[in-house]
Amino acid sequence: MSEYTVALVAHDHKKPELLAWVNKHLAVMQRCKIVATGTTGGLIAEETGLEVTRYKSGPLGGDQQIGALIAENRLDALFFFWDPLNPAPHDPDVKALLRLCSVWNVPVACNSATADLLVTSPLFLTEDYLPTKPNY
Ligand code: PGA
Repeated sequence: MSEYTVALVAHDHKKPELLAWVNKHLAVMQRCKIVATGTTGGLIAEETGLEVTRYKSGPLGGDQQIGALIAENRLDALFFFWDPLNPAPHDPDVKALLRLCSVWNVPVACNSATADLLVTSPLFLTEDYLPTKPNY
């Protein structure tokens, strides 16, 4: 299939969990084009050797850059380990990113359990499933 693009984003307290998750699914991740917010992307590239396109750090606009990919129909899935226990200065951006996933029907996993199920789905990375897109 043509390039399957996934975005990886984790808030600070969730970065170890996302890193462990990526290592667990390294073979699948190697088949994806990976984009990420700045700090998350740096960590993943450094620790796994995966090639990662890094945007700005989340609080500096990285979430919004990933949102723009969604609005342009250039993102296939989002793995967004946001932190439910600590406030984020860019909470409006976090909400906006999740909102765009709903608007554009983009698969989004906010925890490792959902992320496990998503990448092990037989429909992940295949052309057999194309999510419907809204037609407003
Ligand atoms: P970071 O951004 O990867 O630059 O830490 C993540 C976020 O807070 O959205």
